[in-house]
Amino acid sequence: MGHIKLTNVAKSFGNVDVLHGIDLEIGDGEFVVFVGPSGCGKSTLLRIIAGLEKPTGGELAIDGAVVNNVPAADRGLAMVFQSYALYPHMSVRQNLAFGLENTRMPKPEIRERIAEAARMLEIEPYLDRRPGQLSGGQRQRVAIGRAIVRRPVAFLLDEPLSNLDAELRGSTRAELAALHARLSATMIYVTHDQIEAMTLADRIVVLRAGRIEQVGTPLELYNAPANRFVAGFIGSPH
Ligand code: ADP
Ligand code: MG
Repeated sequence: MGHIKLTNVAKSFGNVDVLHGIDLEIGDGEFVVFVGPSGCGKSTLLRIIAGLEKPTGGELAIDGAVVNNVPAADRGLAMVFQSYALYPHMSVRQNLAFGLENTRMPKPEIRERIAEAARMLEIEPYLDRRPGQLSGGQRQRVAIGRAIVRRPVAFLLDEPLSNLDAELRGSTRAELAALHARLSATMIYVTHDQIEAMTLADRIVVLRAGRIEQVGTPLELYNAPANRFVAGFIGSPH
């Protein structure tokens, strides 16, 4: 579970073409990072996978089923945003429970999932606080926790660390890598930070102006960048 396939996916806003014929297959449990300069279409591509944006062309399949017309909530995915998007008037516990309470999930199951996510992310001491009483790093963990409790087949993360200071970004990055190993779920991660891309990714997708320039492992891109743009972006001397 968590296999994602894009075939000739395109997106235009009005007469502005933002994504052109994207072909990409992401394996179950893979950690894939989308990189590229600001405005190249990373977030739009992620939002199309999430179901928050409709493609204007092409096909998107999850675990073999075409989902172009499947609503976001029914895709089995969870999205984590840069801005946390936590509810300020709710406790951490309520924030974690929010997405589960309008399903038919029994209360004990909800409690168990919250406890497990809180343990995993070491946010147990903060469960009864509100987001405003937490540091940026703690808030970002809550945002990740809100995704974990849903047990998605894939996590979609849009620059989740870019609001954190450099030191915290480093430690949270390491925690994310450990979390991926534990959850063995597919992760699609958007960043414009080449260090994040190189350290986290099984494979990197380099985007430029709505097209894929190259897909490969960090080592492949470093050793054999397809062109100067990729080399420059990856920091490869080749
Ligand atoms: P990135 O995440 O790589 O910085 P985005 O996917 O956010 O890039 O944006 C890609 C392009 O699409 C940009 O030119 C942006 O202005 C445009 N765009 C994104 N969302 C919309 C929208 N809702 N309406 C019009 N244009 C948009
Ligand atoms: Mg973006």
